[in-house]
Amino acid sequence: MRQARAVSLREERQREALRREKREYMRRWRANPENRARMMAMGHRQCAKRKVERSQEAGAKVCVFCRTHAPVKRIERLITTSAGFKAVYVMCCADCLA
Ligand SMILES: [Zn+2]
Repeated sequence: MRQARAVSLREERQREALRREKREYMRRWRANPENRARMMAMGHRQCAKRKVERSQEAGAKVCVFCRTHAPVKRIERLITTSAGFKAVYVMCCADCLA
């Protein structure tokens, strides 16, 4: 019983050391401005993606461009993804189409 406890304690310490090591690694990684810039760019892309998704959800009620008129037509738009362009469908009104 005592032996099992000693082993688990050592494992506990090892886990703690590993956790600290990972934390330090991430701290150094974030300290690199290049990495930070990449993370920031990723955040902006995510934001843009969510905007399109939101517009698609709301698209059933209002035009995605003017957000006032009723949508009459579904049109194809291209959004950028990490794998290149992707076609999405959005709803828009006749006024914004002209
Ligand atoms: Zn419109």
